[in-house]
Amino acid sequence: MDSIYREQFWNISRVWLFYVLAGLALAVFAFGVADRVAVWKTGFKARRIGFSAAGIRRLIIDGLLGARIIKGDLTAGIIHLMIFWGFLGLFLGTLSSAVDHYVVSWLRGNVYLAFSRMMEVCGAALIIGTAAVLLRRYLIRVPRLERRGEDLIIPAWLITIAVTGFLVKSARLAATQPAWGEASSFVGPALTGIFSSPLQAQDVHVYLWWGHALLSLGLIAYLPFSKLFHALAAPANIYVQTQPRQFVSVEDRSTLVGEFSQDQILFSQACTRCGRCTDVCPACLAGEPFSPRNFVAAGKTDATLKGRLINRVSFLKKWAVKRLSETPAISPGLSWYCTTCRACLEVCPIYAAPLDLVREVRIRILEDGRSAPPLVTRALENLLKYSNPWESSKKKRDKWMGDLTIPDLTRNVRAEWCYFVGCTTSIDLRAQEIARAFSRILIHTGVSFGTLGKKETCCGDIARCLGEEGLFETLGEDTLALFQKHEITRVVTSSPHCFHTFKNEYPLFQESLPEESRVDFSVSHYSRILAGLSRAGRLSFSQTLNLTVTYHDPCYLGRHNGIYDEPRQVIQAIPGVTLKEMIHYGPDSLCCGGGGGRMWQELSSETKISEVRIREAAATGADVVITACPYCLIMLEDARKTAGLEDSIKVLDLNELVLLALGLADRPSERPR
Ligand code: SF4
Ligand code: SF4
Repeated sequence: MDSIYREQFWNISRVWLFYVLAGLALAVFAFGVADRVAVWKTGFKARRIGFSAAGIRRLIIDGLLGARIIKGDLTAGIIHLMIFWGFLGLFLGTLSSAVDHYVVSWLRGNVYLAFSRMMEVCGAALIIGTAAVLLRRYLIRVPRLERRGEDLIIPAWLITIAVTGFLVKSARLAATQPAWGEASSFVGPALTGIFSSPLQAQDVHVYLWWGHALLSLGLIAYLPFSKLFHALAAPANIYVQTQPRQFVSVEDRSTLVGEFSQDQILFSQACTRCGRCTDVCPACLAGEPFSPRNFVAAGKTDATLKGRLINRVSFLKKWAVKRLSETPAISPGLSWYCTTCRACLEVCPIYAAPLDLVREVRIRILEDGRSAPPLVTRALENLLKYSNPWESSKKKRDKWMGDLTIPDLTRNVRAEWCYFVGCTTSIDLRAQEIARAFSRILIHTGVSFGTLGKKETCCGDIARCLGEEGLFETLGEDTLALFQKHEITRVVTSSPHCFHTFKNEYPLFQESLPEESRVDFSVSHYSRILAGLSRAGRLSFSQTLNLTVTYHDPCYLGRHNGIYDEPRQVIQAIPGVTLKEMIHYGPDSLCCGGGGGRMWQELSSETKISEVRIREAAATGADVVITACPYCLIMLEDARKTAGLEDSIKVLDLNELVLLALGLADRPSERPR
């Protein structure tokens, strides 16, 4: 039997030309990557990058095994894995052949036969996966998928490379006719019949080989300039997004050169325009003129306009600018549509965070003195003046208490918990019911608690969401000073927004403060306290309610902080209550439309996000939709009326439901006068 191996460059003359072209392709590739890195470097640092086991784990699970892509769309996930593994396998195979040729001969005998067949499996996976991409995009026409030039060119290019690879191999086998030919290939022997003679196969082989080589080298050169760049940027972003965030203070910002942070630029570069974010975005579902995919793409355009190496070469710059003009730059006004609900980040296969980009753009709008929506400006002015966005005097902050007697922790009283009521819960008439209900439950169950009374400040969440960083810092410092003065160490909040700010934003913010201004405190949301009381048997429900309810997950409790079970545990512990889930629930929940500062905006849209949500709630047939956030309560209560569902469904806060079950509801004397 002939010796079993593949001779590199068999039948190929002028191999030097191949080396020249390969060198050229690699040089263009390196330039393209350097160009992308140069853009990335224009960003400022908002994360500390270092070794992270969690990052490596995520890279393996989401990058190599595609768990994240499969999770949202099994078909797309399988297709992606076929292309990814097929491509990677062929790439590693080419490297192995090079090692075999230049370094150490190891692809011989049975090892070569197994290698050869493995390469065919990879090639077949690439062809099938890429054909499926074209099928979904152009025949099935999956709505979220776009049909731009590149979306056709790249799959067609990949298929042609794989097909010519098979043809080159079959031509070689047909020409050389080795005894082990069939053992080295699934497909080759079947294709050898297309050649009329070994001599013809040898002639054709040369053209096929050069065609295959040119297509492959061309793709390598084109990769950094195309959407295929995500093959490099996406793994980098998946890793980077596990790294700890860093607080960028207003003072830091005054020295920053770039408009975006490095991780924002990175995820813009890694975005594949898959449209999963747009599919789940409440603003898109309500028909508003905003799309997270387009916003991220525009972010890339904006960042790419500066810092490119390409800009140094005038004809390349002209080409690049023309190409970029195909994607519109960021339209800052659209940033106000985002509710910061995090649904996009939840489904994005590469962990892009459009909401981060949105906040960055809002910061720039306010910093540059460009016009913000009038209600936003007013809310911020109110925050500055009254320490709440509702234009309510500080003296009225504790009016919600009515006849309730609640210890004031600012008067030398000590309690286990500081109940941080929050601006909206303290002031909005409907939301005040949350504070009264929760306080009565705590009193009823003997939990030691107090409030900060009239002295309570705004935690700063609204300022941060709206992009007013300086105000956030001021309000944060005021709140911490209050906690420090009154030795507050355990806080429970009504609002998931205050909870999120204390839990996730304050630790970063405190790092920017001098040691003596920092406060060590823990924070909980009331749903956790209720769940704890329920588990401890301290909520003795005297009423059987005979109600069917559905639960609306507030975005800042659920997606932002992973609290899905506790509110449901409380609901399910109540006698006579049946819980029915909506079509969107848990991590897939749909926003009420009130987050991200949208409580203070009137944006044009055909349908309100809150109406979409209340209709989903009504569709379950539930008597009541329960929620655990003052914004959600107000938005859904309002939507119930505007959507004409007043007689179909009621809206209650979780505390109100618990109060009903405890038999303590409806004591008007305790309401504020
Ligand atoms: S941001 Fe993420 S989900 Fe949205 S289009 Fe880009 S890759 Fe897809
Ligand atoms: S955070 Fe929510 S509203 Fe904002 S872009 Fe993402 S999905 Fe849309």
